[in-house]
Amino acid sequence: MCGIVAFTGTVDTIPVLLGGLRRLEYRGYDSAGVALQLPTEIKTIKRQGKVLQLHEAVDKAIAAGELGQMPTTGIGHTRWATHGIPNEANAHPHSDCTGEVAVVHNGIIENHAHLRAALSERGHRFFSQTDTEVIAHLIEEEYQATPGDLAQAVRTTVAQLSGSFALAICHAKHPGVLVVTRNDSPLVVGKAAYGVLAASDTPAIIEHTRRVYFLDDRDVAVLHQNGTIDFFDPAGTAYSPTAVTIEWDLEDAERGGYPDFMLKEIHEQPKVIKDTLAGRFDDKNHQILFEELALSAQEMSDVDRVIIVACGTSYHAGLIGKDLLEAWGRLPVEVAYASEFRYRNPLLTAQTLVIAISQSGETADTLEAVKLARRAGAHVLAITNVVGSRITMEANNVVFIKAHIEIAVAATKSFLAQVAQLTLLAAHIAQQRGEVDGRWVSELYEHMQELPAKIEELLTDTATAAIERCAAECAAAQTALFIGRGVGATTCYEGALKLKEISYLHAEAFAAGEIKHGPIALIDPEGLSDPRRQTPVIAVTCQSATYDKMLANIEEMQARGAKVIALATVGDERIAQLTPYVISIPKVRECLSPILASVPLQLFARFVALIRGANVDQPRNLAKSVTVE
Ligand code: GLU
Repeated sequence: MCGIVAFTGTVDTIPVLLGGLRRLEYRGYDSAGVALQLPTEIKTIKRQGKVLQLHEAVDKAIAAGELGQMPTTGIGHTRWATHGIPNEANAHPHSDCTGEVAVVHNGIIENHAHLRAALSERGHRFFSQTDTEVIAHLIEEEYQATPGDLAQAVRTTVAQLSGSFALAICHAKHPGVLVVTRNDSPLVVGKAAYGVLAASDTPAIIEHTRRVYFLDDRDVAVLHQNGTIDFFDPAGTAYSPTAVTIEWDLEDAERGGYPDFMLKEIHEQPKVIKDTLAGRFDDKNHQILFEELALSAQEMSDVDRVIIVACGTSYHAGLIGKDLLEAWGRLPVEVAYASEFRYRNPLLTAQTLVIAISQSGETADTLEAVKLARRAGAHVLAITNVVGSRITMEANNVVFIKAHIEIAVAATKSFLAQVAQLTLLAAHIAQQRGEVDGRWVSELYEHMQELPAKIEELLTDTATAAIERCAAECAAAQTALFIGRGVGATTCYEGALKLKEISYLHAEAFAAGEIKHGPIALIDPEGLSDPRRQTPVIAVTCQSATYDKMLANIEEMQARGAKVIALATVGDERIAQLTPYVISIPKVRECLSPILASVPLQLFARFVALIRGANVDQPRNLAKSVTVE
């Protein structure tokens, strides 16, 4: 999901489109393109790389007289590849067989493979590897069925699509007209003095207008050069929406109105989990699908060992994955720091499955670990967020997490996406190995489908106010301890990393049973009277099979003067009797609790950082992708 800008009006469309795309550059992208409406045809110009390169290409076309008189209608796009590598052919806009239709798309068409096969059978020729291109060909067909009615052709096309999309479309036979629509992906329409605009995000258009309209899922809007806009609901009934006035300044708009990218990305997590789950379950055969894994059932049962290699937050996701893979797939799993693994002559055979996790796909140590594993003949599966990244070229297979670009340095939504993807993968492997049956995976998938709504509950004002209150209790401390058992302990490792990386409050996580073997010495009894000497303890107690043991650990810590903040299942009375600092988590299966419990821990770290005056998006000394060893 990257950027869309579209304009039709009485002035030159080129500066509006290129200026809008520039405004969206902060979101990250790999290629850019525009389609301009000329009197009798659509002219498409696209480039791999930056908007600057696209700008140069457009200037060249103008100088060569290829754009005729000033075009006043066009669509523009910055792509963040999800299907097909980042190159010029895959850059948007995409066209149909006749070249009359041009489409830009943000999002993912889940049923693209099926649509593509059917379209090819009907004689359509494809020019790219994208999921998007099917839309152009479908519009071409639908338009033949309703000649002259582009909006209707778009509506019937959209009815065939599943997945997330924001679309802007122009057609050679409809000068001065744009059709836009959306589903599960943002799109805003705006009215300026000299025309109408549409964009995936407000920063692209607020220099032209602050009067905007938001479309509901699958609504269609037709933008006319004379400044009028027709709105239709999915059934094709016209309606008049109310305009909204955008009060944000440009910087606020880039962060979607949130004070920082970290908070914006935390709030995107319900959608990220929804995207991760989409298309992963075959409800006829009761199977979790991982077509990209390309290992036959035989090869899968030949696997005798799994090694997960990763760094930082991805390593913590790996720890959670290990628990699930072992418990469900009955496979021995090791989790290794990539920076250690590559130097220690690890034991690898052709039966070893190596899972390498890297958000950016460029993490230097993880890349070297992948190369080493390949040389030793192991099968390497990469899990990454970035299509076209180096890890995708080095591994045997790739699974993409559906987190989209993450701007804040501290990983939040990419972590949740990794954990959700590993959960599905563990279930898939377990099923392929015959360890679990269809009923079992159906139930798991059903529970996972409830996660987005449960994450929303954790993001309400009341829920976050409780977290803020707990953060205020700890912000003056010098060090904090995180304790948990089982998946609670692994959740704590990431919680402690989040806290130290953005707030600079030193934090360590321990399996709660280990506390008595050393770390409990860190609790200073004077902490009760002196906030700087206190060692707050954050205890993750969610519905663990070892719940009673956790309560005992909490009491031990309190007896030594610790202030305990407990993450507990909603309605947990026993915890409420032990401590006034409780953060409630919706009820969920224990195996899925890291996905929920991590969200308040992210918010907790952010609140502590804000109280301590730290920059939550760009913590000192850290970079988003660690491309050096
Ligand atoms: N799925 C589309 C592609 O890979 C759109 C990506 C985007 O949102 O930029 O081309």
